[in-house]
Amino acid sequence: MANPPYRARPSDRADRILAQVEAARGEIVAFTADMIRIPTVNPPGESYRDCAELIGRRLGEAGFDVEYVEPEGLPEHTAAHPRVNVIGRGVGEGAGKRIHLNGHFDVVPAGDGWSVDPFGGLVKDGRIYGRGASDMKSGIAAAVFAVEAIRRAGIDLRGAVDVSGTVDEESGGFAGVAHLCRTGSVTGDNTDYAIIPEPFGPDRVCVGHRGVYWFDVVARGHAAHGSMPHLGRSAIDDMGAVLEAFRTRVGPRLAALRSSLPVVPGHSRRPSLNVNAIEGGQAGETDQTPCVADRCTATFDRRFIPEESLDDVREEVMDAVARVAAEDPGRSLSVVDRLVVHPVRTPPGSPVVAALSNAIRAVRGHDATLVASPGTYDQKHFARIGGIEHCVAYGPGPLAEAHQPDESCGVDDLVACTQVLALAVLELAGLDAG
Ligand SMILES: [Zn+2]
Repeated sequence: MANPPYRARPSDRADRILAQVEAARGEIVAFTADMIRIPTVNPPGESYRDCAELIGRRLGEAGFDVEYVEPEGLPEHTAAHPRVNVIGRGVGEGAGKRIHLNGHFDVVPAGDGWSVDPFGGLVKDGRIYGRGASDMKSGIAAAVFAVEAIRRAGIDLRGAVDVSGTVDEESGGFAGVAHLCRTGSVTGDNTDYAIIPEPFGPDRVCVGHRGVYWFDVVARGHAAHGSMPHLGRSAIDDMGAVLEAFRTRVGPRLAALRSSLPVVPGHSRRPSLNVNAIEGGQAGETDQTPCVADRCTATFDRRFIPEESLDDVREEVMDAVARVAAEDPGRSLSVVDRLVVHPVRTPPGSPVVAALSNAIRAVRGHDATLVASPGTYDQKHFARIGGIEHCVAYGPGPLAEAHQPDESCGVDDLVACTQVLALAVLELAGLDAG
C-alpha cells in the first residue's frame, strides 16, 4: 500500500499565518516587481539608494525600526555609486532567539537575449520576469512578507526578527553583508540565526558552499620580430604548457574527488579548475605589429571542497607551475594570488535547518532536500566575520535562471517560500533565549 502524502497538521497560529501570506499574494508580487523596476545593476552599483529606500519604506510600514548603513571609507562607496544597505530591526520582547533575514538587492547586468524588458517587472502567466526576479528580489519580498504575515496574524514573537537588504553580493559583498558583520551591526552577539533567501526553490535548504581560490599565472618571454620568432621567447607558448599541465595533471585528480557536502548540481561535488581569462601579446582589436609576445597572464578559478585545505590547493598549483618551468630552463612563470574564500558549512543538527525542514513539511507536504551551492554567497560573511554559524540559504526562484536572460520566478513558488519562511521564523523565535 502506498503511503498517503505526509502533511503535518499546522497549529491554529500556523494556519492564521499561512492564510495571511495567501491573502498578501498580490502585494508580494507587486513589491517584487517594484524592486525589479529599479535597475540595481552591479557593476557599477546603480540606483542602490532608490532600492534601499523602497525596501526601507516597506519595512517601516511593517513596524520595523529602519536604519540605513553606508560603508564610509570603502573605495567602492562613491558619490556616483553610493553603497546603501537597509536594516529593519524587529521589535521583540527579547525573551527568545533573534533571527536575521537578509537578501542582496544588487543584480548582474541584463546582458543580451531577453524577450521581455529586463527591468519592466512583467507579471505574466503566473511568473514574474526581470533581472533579479530569481536572484534575489523575490527572496527579499518573501522575507519581508513572512514577518508581515506573522504580524497581521496578530502573533507576538518571543524572540525578534530583523530583515536587511544589502548591496554588492555579486561582487563579493564587502560593502554589504561583510560591512554589517565587521562593524557589529549583525554578529553572533546580537543574532542567533540567519536565513538568506537565495533562489534554491521552495523545497531545498542550502547548508553551505565550496571554497574559491583565484590566482593569476604570469609568463614572461622575450620580444622579437615576428618574422624571426626563434630569436625571442613566446610567453603565450609558455602559458600553453601551463594550461596543458593543469588539464592533464591536475584535472584528472580533481575529477576523482567527491565532497560529502551535498553540492548541486552533482557534478560540482568535485573540485574544479577553470581558466577565466587569458591576456598576452598585443591587444587583439588594435592594429598588429609583428612581435613575439613577451608577456602573458591567465586568471584561474579553482573551486575547492571542505575536504581540501587551502594550503594543499595552493601547493598543488605552485608545484604544477614549478614543474612546467623546470621542463625548460628558459621559462619564467610566477603565480599571484587574487582571492580566497573558504568553504562554509552549517553545523549538523542546526536548529535553523530543523525549523525550515519542519516548515517545508507543513507547507509542501514532503521532506526538504539539503543542498550546498557550487558558488559562494553571503553565508561566508555571516559565518566567518559575523560568527553566525547557524546560517542557511532558503528562498524562491529557480537557481538555474539566475544571471540568465528572461530570468523569472513562479508566483506560487514565491508564496510557498514566504509561507515556509514565516513558519520557520515562528518556530525559531519561539525558542528560549540563551
Ligand atoms: Zn544571489
